[in-house]
This record gives sequence, C-alpha cells and structure tokens, in this order.
Amino acid sequence: MPIENHEKARFLLHRALVEGISLEDRRWLDAHVGQCAECGRYADLSARTVRALDWFALELDPAAALRVENVVRSRAEEMRSAEAHAKRLWIGTAVAIFLTFTGSAVTWHTLAWLASQWNLPSRVWQIGFVAFWLLPSLMLALLPLFRRTLLGGHSDSKGQTI
Ligand SMILES: [Zn+2]
Repeated sequence: MPIENHEKARFLLHRALVEGISLEDRRWLDAHVGQCAECGRYADLSARTVRALDWFALELDPAAALRVENVVRSRAEEMRSAEAHAKRLWIGTAVAIFLTFTGSAVTWHTLAWLASQWNLPSRVWQIGFVAFWLLPSLMLALLPLFRRTLLGGHSDSKGQTI
C-alpha cells in the first residue's frame, strides 16, 4: 500500500474528529482502516483520546454557576462594606484623639491653676493628670481599633464584631 494512503487516512481521521468529512471520504477512510492494521490502531487510539478529553470537559450546571456567582458577589459586597466600616473607624479614632489632646490641654491648664491655688507639688498633680486623665482618654480613643483583638472574637459573616 502506498505511503500516501496512510498519510491521507490520518489526515482524514484528524479532519473527521475536528470538522467532519464528506461521505465519499468517510467511505474511503473506512475501507482503508478496515484493511490497514496500523491506521486501524491509530483510528482507535484517536477515538479513545477524544473520549478521554470529553470526560474531562465538564458540563457547567447553570444553577451551580449562579450560586457561585451569588456567593462571589455577596462576598465582594461584604468586603466593600467592611472597608467602609474600617475607614469610618479610623476617622472616628482620629477625631477622638484630637478631642483627647484638646481636652487634655484645657484640663492641664485647669489642674495647674488648681495646684497653684492648693500649693500642690507639680509632680503630684502631673502624675495624677497622666494616670487619671491622659491614659484613660487615650485608651478610650483607641478602644474601637483594638476592640476585636481585646474581645478575642471573630467577626461574623457581615463583618461586624459579635
Ligand atoms: Zn494505513
């Protein structure tokens, strides 16, 4: 059998798998594959390879795709709202720290005046100011930022602390 016939057979096998072949070519191919053991094995191997590839090509269930899309969409929405929440938290903390220092300046001058009236040593009222005014105020101002860590809790699905 001329070698061109084997090449033609393989060419037609490939075309048959990809785009189909004419009825005349199909008849010629079937006749050749019936007579030629080598091309018969090649045709069998090609058919098995295509079946194996079909097995890997999963049909996507539209309902499952919709569920995945909804989960991804709601997760993105949660992340956006958590981001906005974190931004508000930082702004609130910055305002609280500003108010703490403004209030501390006023309190500092008031305590200095009272201490001079009562003849208190400056170290005494300054330590009292730091211990009973400045530290508690700063801790309260920073509390929202560390609330999660302090409570040791994880946020629920809506990104809010339990
Ligand atoms: Zn052949």
